[in-house]
Amino acid sequence: MISSRPALDHHPAEISFAIRWVCHFLSATILVPILSAVSLAEPATGPSFWIRVNQVGYLPGDPKIALLSSAAPLTGNFSVGEMTVPIGADCGAWGPFAHNYRLDFSELKTSGRYQIQFQDIRSAEFSIGGDAYRNVPDQLLSFMQLQRCGKNPVTGKLCHQQDGIDTETGKQVNLVGGWHDAADRLKHMITTSYCVAALKLAGASEESAHGAELLRKLHPDAETLYVQIGDDRDHASPNSLWHGDQTDYGWGPGGARSAWQATGQPEGPKHKNKSSGLASLAGRCAAALALEGDLQQAESLYRLAQAHPGCAMSVPVRAPYYYGESTYFDDLQWAAIELNLATGQEKYLQEAVEYARQAGPSQWMGRAEHGHYEFFPYVNLAHWRLYPKADRATQQQLAGYYRQGLERVEARARKNPYRHGTPLVWCSTNDVIAVATQAVLYESMTGDTQFRSLAAEARDWVFGRNPWGVSFVIGVPVGGEFAKDPHHPFSKVGGILPVGGLVDGPVTKQINDSLKYSAFGEDRYARFQSDVAVYHGVYEDFSTNEPIIDGTVSLLLLLSLWK
Ligand SMILES: [Zn+2]
Repeated sequence: MISSRPALDHHPAEISFAIRWVCHFLSATILVPILSAVSLAEPATGPSFWIRVNQVGYLPGDPKIALLSSAAPLTGNFSVGEMTVPIGADCGAWGPFAHNYRLDFSELKTSGRYQIQFQDIRSAEFSIGGDAYRNVPDQLLSFMQLQRCGKNPVTGKLCHQQDGIDTETGKQVNLVGGWHDAADRLKHMITTSYCVAALKLAGASEESAHGAELLRKLHPDAETLYVQIGDDRDHASPNSLWHGDQTDYGWGPGGARSAWQATGQPEGPKHKNKSSGLASLAGRCAAALALEGDLQQAESLYRLAQAHPGCAMSVPVRAPYYYGESTYFDDLQWAAIELNLATGQEKYLQEAVEYARQAGPSQWMGRAEHGHYEFFPYVNLAHWRLYPKADRATQQQLAGYYRQGLERVEARARKNPYRHGTPLVWCSTNDVIAVATQAVLYESMTGDTQFRSLAAEARDWVFGRNPWGVSFVIGVPVGGEFAKDPHHPFSKVGGILPVGGLVDGPVTKQINDSLKYSAFGEDRYARFQSDVAVYHGVYEDFSTNEPIIDGTVSLLLLLSLWK
């Protein structure tokens, strides 16, 4: 997702294992006074402390740190499995909690189902074991299948068979297929190009092949590349499943959709994006098609990218929002190294090294905020792909680029007990996963384990170890506390929960307020909102609770890389 989702706007109007609890030192007589103190802070409205844990679980060797968060100071031991351990020092206030304690049970490595217990509160259940994540990849992939455009395996129906009509020439072109972007019916090639390449690298070849079929059609001649099919006019049309889309782009309700060429110039009939070239999109498409073995098309796209440095952004029509990607050396580097790996040609390797130096570390890392999709896709996978082919000095540079970014994020993360160090901007889960991915790649390149805990705690954030105690992956784990009422047409009008979709995740209240077009109703997470960030588990909140295809694929890739 990227883009402009704002405007993409959603139409304004709709717009114990059996926990063997070893009785710890807290006797009933001690327990009562503590609970009394807590109840003064939070009278009769339920618990005053919460245990936040990764609800899916941990591989045996993973760092394992849950959070005990509270309104009042706490002391004592927590229990998990056979372990009984002091809760440790108060790490101070953060977000909605005045007191936070990091419950480290990394030494627990025995496979099984567990809960953490403190006083009379138990955490959600989770697994420890080599197969803790066994079911998750298929769940993530099921979301991508739900998103398919053209022929959809979930509905069994065809959709958008007239994609699309070239907005420059007025001619019909065949751009059927790909994936619908997030909860929208339009298709963004900015995200699609990334998804194809990352799916392939994650070993999900069947799904990547589905997207590649559309990518091959985006570049019909040496100078043409399409960036978007459909546009934000589809936000005005009644909510529907994909095949029920009655948006009228000027060729009748449910008719052909606009096919927007990337022109390399600011683009849009009313509001203009800030496009400056084609290299970001053309480079990523080239990398994806090189991975898919379509070398002729990949080389042509690479030439197009080199000839037009700069970024291609999505096209706003009704509202002034778009995916404002601003970096492209990473995409040129990715294209060059995938072409080198596919063809063996030395010139591509040399160019990949040059582009790597221009790309450097990911620029967003260490920042508190950035624009919508400004640094997409947030992880430069080309550094990792280039590493085995580079000389020793270049390898050290490449690893250093990851390390520099990770150090900046870690410096921010160490300032709060949840170790959250990434911007809380729209689609914040993308940033979280990008940090974990870079940490895992850095360790695989260097053997240096210094960011292992940063990676694990970022992953844990996604699966529920966050102030809201919510897994940001819809339907995962089964029976868990996950995003249940996502901003998505299938759950709204189709009665089908888009299981496996990663939602955009928490944002600052300021961002959330700016993207609020309808009332959210009763807030079941009201106690956990704060000046740090908000998350609402309701359909109406598309800025925190809308599933995104690129983030879902990034999570799949992360899990495939996790050792
Ligand atoms: Zn469709």
